[in-house]
Amino acid sequence: MSKKDYYELLGVPRDASDRDIKKAYRRLAMKYHPDRNPDDKQAEDKFKELSEAYEVLSDSQKKAAYDQFGHAGVDGQGMGGGGFHGGFEGNFSDIFGDVFGDIFGGGAGGKRRSSVQRGADLRYNLDLTLEEAVRGCEKSLRVPTLVGCEVCDGSGAKPGTSAKTCGTCGGMGQVRMQQGFFSVQQTCPTCHGQGKVISDPCNACHGQGRVEKVKTLQVKIPAGVDTGDRIRLSGEGEAGSHGGPSGDLYVQVNVREHPIFQRDGKHLYCEVPISFVDAALGGELDVPTLDGRVKLKVPAETQTGKLFRLRGKGIAPVRGGSVGDLMVKVTVETPVSLNSRQKELLREFQEATEEGKHKHSPKRHGFFDSVKKFFEDMT
Ligand SMILES: [Zn+2]
Ligand SMILES: [Zn+2]
Repeated sequence: MSKKDYYELLGVPRDASDRDIKKAYRRLAMKYHPDRNPDDKQAEDKFKELSEAYEVLSDSQKKAAYDQFGHAGVDGQGMGGGGFHGGFEGNFSDIFGDVFGDIFGGGAGGKRRSSVQRGADLRYNLDLTLEEAVRGCEKSLRVPTLVGCEVCDGSGAKPGTSAKTCGTCGGMGQVRMQQGFFSVQQTCPTCHGQGKVISDPCNACHGQGRVEKVKTLQVKIPAGVDTGDRIRLSGEGEAGSHGGPSGDLYVQVNVREHPIFQRDGKHLYCEVPISFVDAALGGELDVPTLDGRVKLKVPAETQTGKLFRLRGKGIAPVRGGSVGDLMVKVTVETPVSLNSRQKELLREFQEATEEGKHKHSPKRHGFFDSVKKFFEDMT
């Protein structure tokens, strides 16, 4: 059997997506297909190699084994094990039908395509306030969607009548046509692949079996959700066509910005401005939490930017685990709009602290000492 690298054979990188692998195989298989290259042994061998490569790389389990162990990981499996080389017709139609879909119909099998299809999944973007996300809430969503027609029970045919088997394709949904080397199956032009024709369409849904409707859904949002969380409502998506099952509805959570708190996972952050007098003398601050105000003792000589941690005042995560904390960052506010009396007091304060300035503002003076030394060293 072939020992060529499967990725090289298909001309795709090792991280190629399923789609790219399929596309590459499809393009090459068309080129080397034995029908197009009659009596060409080389083309046939190449075609076998390509199909073997695709058989492995299109199967997630075999692909994983091949990626890890190379050929040793997939030898003795599938086509390489003899099925393919022994009898060319073996598994061939399966993968061929899978890859070529519409063009070749079901390959050699000629499987009848079902007109019953599952409805599409829907996505609903739900904006929540931080409070709603943290505490949980109940929301009613108005979702425009396709629902099964009640008048015709989803069949699309006027009540009392029923859909008839399509005469063009005999109910297969596909017709066979000769095109070049290939015998090609195409979607039936009369019934558009449904296999049935509705001569008397239902008035309510115009034969579609589904109608557009805005439905209202009550959704319970669990406490602790965060932006990016998704809630799945099974069967609440679009109705399937011709009686197929409904898709799902995914509620995508987005938590809006809060005027006071920033959220990082289960922790909350907030910034509280304090006066420089409070910062210097210490005092008690009123700090907001999601459950109301709490007192925070700020020690004397607190510097701006200092972070205080309030344990357990954050968020209880939706997937469980310990409750987060609230981090309070205090920022010292420089006084503004001072009158002459207030300014005078500050100047007086400045004079009073001038003598021990290295003691009162160690950072500032330490800094200017470093700057002075820096310039002295330069000269
Ligand atoms: Zn109807
Ligand atoms: Zn037809």
